[in-house]
Formats: sequence, structure tokens, C-alpha cells
Amino acid sequence: MSENDNHHIENSPEYEGLKVNQGIEQPESVSNDSVKRFLKKKRNLLTANEYVAGILKGDITLLSKAVTLVESSKSEHQQLAQEIITQCLPHSGKSVRIGITGVPGVGKSTFIEALGKYITNRGERLAVLAIDPSSERTKGSILGDKTRMEELAGDNKAYIRPSPSAGSLGGVARKTRETIILCEAAGFSHILIETVGVGQSETAVHSMTDFFLLLMLAGAGDELQGIKRGIMEMADLIAINKADGNNVEKAQMAQVQYKNAIHLFPKKESDWEPGVLTCSAFHKMGIDTIWQQVEKYKKQTVDNGYFFKKRNEQSTYWMHETIEEHLKRNFYDHPEIKEKLKVLENYVLNDRMSSFIAAGELLKMYSNLK
Ligand code: GDP
Repeated sequence: MSENDNHHIENSPEYEGLKVNQGIEQPESVSNDSVKRFLKKKRNLLTANEYVAGILKGDITLLSKAVTLVESSKSEHQQLAQEIITQCLPHSGKSVRIGITGVPGVGKSTFIEALGKYITNRGERLAVLAIDPSSERTKGSILGDKTRMEELAGDNKAYIRPSPSAGSLGGVARKTRETIILCEAAGFSHILIETVGVGQSETAVHSMTDFFLLLMLAGAGDELQGIKRGIMEMADLIAINKADGNNVEKAQMAQVQYKNAIHLFPKKESDWEPGVLTCSAFHKMGIDTIWQQVEKYKKQTVDNGYFFKKRNEQSTYWMHETIEEHLKRNFYDHPEIKEKLKVLENYVLNDRMSSFIAAGELLKMYSNLK
């Protein structure tokens, strides 16, 4: 080391008694932020900015990790997830969101695989999500098993994410809705959201998608298929699946019946007239015709303004849903409320107190707790 390298003003003759040596390089400052960043890294968490930068570059590993944060119930993860979502929001909204429903066995995963491959073969990127609030019980029946969509799972233009499993339908649906935002920011141009058409979850899927597709079978009565009239009314397209082999004729007959049935439904606000088509997901037949309907729908509703009107309505709907979900969780998770709830429930059951007075007392107690 030359003398020059080690020159400090303090080493000049007039600074007696003080010798400063060249030390190791120091960071400019050790702020709270950098400590936080260091600790986060230690726990394998990146900063929101790092997640967002990765997502915007289409990094699937970081996208998956961010979705895991969205799904986590830890408040530390939730906070980070919300920061990521907020930053991704301006980059979202550009995909076509398609809801797919139908009873178990109708062929949803086979269909999603066929439609999904059709979409990725056109050079588009596709994310497949699911809403299945029962998946905790059934250990992820829906999309849980990736072998159900082997071809798509191995396609680098496709991203498959099973349903978040924990919590109420509202909670599961909110997480899926937030995951849509992240997937769109990561550049997925098409999002398919699968749900089982037997409960309330199709309403949730309908409230976060642009186009709603109902898969049906020929020869099975509506009761058998568990499809309620309300779900049929939500559909923008009904596709009768398994129209192959001996089933072709039956499928065509069902097509006529369903066409007659939906003809009687009230006109849709979108001005769109839902069609009824047949397909064979297994033999990949009729997929292109279904896709043409989706594209036609998009064009028509973008042109008449309905597409974005619906999206805006969905955004405010989700704002209210999130508030309700949050308030409910805060209320029911509060330890003192939990205690009191048990007591007052007993009073109500034994006719010692009316339901309204009990509710009133709990709510009063809750607002005093805050
Ligand atoms: P999901 O429960 O609605 O997801 O239904 P799956 O996609 O798992 O399909 C249920 C069964 O129906 C599987 O054995 C599929 O191979 C079969 N399947 C699905 N689509 C078709 C189809 O278009 N034609 C025929 N013949 N079978 C199909």
C-alpha cells in the first residue's frame, strides 16, 4: 500500500496522538430499513419492490411466492402481499378472465387442458386458477392434482395454481381475485378460473370474470347435474361436453333443449345472447368454436361499453366484500367476543334473551373494545 493510499488528513503532523488506518469498507449508513431488509432476507422474504420487479418480468417463481403470501393468514405476509398487489394493480386488468363451472365429472379439467393448449398454441400465456372452498376437506380435489392437466402443467406458457384452501368462500374468493391481479401483472393474457358448479362458489367466480362458461352433460337431468337455474342464467355460453362416440346424438338433442330453455331467460344487460354448443374435451373437438364465442363476446361487450362497466362494478363489489370479510373476521376472532358469544348463544337457545338483544350487546361490546 503506498503512503498516498493511506492518506488521511488526521495523519498530518498537526493531528498529534491520532492515527487513522485504512479500515474495511463500511455501508453509508445502517438504517432501520436496511436492517428490516436484512432480516426479511434471512427469513427468505424479499421486499415488495423485489417481488414486483420479478413479477413484472414474468418470473414464475417469484409470482408463486407472492401468491403464497396472498394466501397466507400471517399478518406479516398479508401486509407484504397488500404492498405487492398495490404496486401490481396499475399493470393489471389486461387479460380476458374466463370462469368455468360444471359438476364433478363433467370434464372441467379435461376441458381446461384442451382449451388451455388451444390458447397457448396461439402464443398466448395462460393462468389457471380455481375456487374451491371445500378443498381443505377434500384435500384439494380441484386442480390439486396436477396430473389432471399433465400437458398444460408442462407448458411453459401456462401457470396452474390450485385453489387456496383455507377459510370461508369469501376469503378463498378474495385470494383468487388478488391472484388474478398478480398473474395479469406477470403478463398472463388469459385467466381461466375453475369452480365446481354445485354451490355458491360460481357466484364468486362470476363476480371476478368477464365470461362465464357452463359445462353440461347430455342425458342427465338438471337436478342430476345439480345445476340451479340461477347458474344457467349467469352463463354466457353453455357447452355440452362429451359429445363423442355414441353420445353425439344425445348431445345434439340436449343442445336443442338447452337452447329453448335459455331463450326464455330475461335479456342480459350485456346484450349478449348466450349460445349452446357441443364439444368433446377429450378429443379436443369444438374447442375452436367455443373460443370464437369468447372472442366475439369480448369484442361486442367492449364495443357496447359493458365489458368495463362490469369490471368497475366488480371492483366495488370486491371492495365491499373485503370490508365485510375483514370486519367479520375481526369480530369473530376477538377472544372476548368469542367468550361472550358462547354465553349469549346459550341465553338465546334457552329463551332467556332475544336474538336481537344478544346481537346488540355483542356489537356494543365490540365497539367498546376498539
Ligand atoms: P371434472 O371433475 O369436471 O374436472 O372432470 P374430468 O376432466 O376429471 O373428467 C371426468 C372424466 O370424464 C374423465 O374420465 C375424463 O377422461 C372424462 N372426459 C372428460 N371430457 C370428456 C369428453 O369430452 N369425452 C369423453 N368421452 N370423456 C371425457
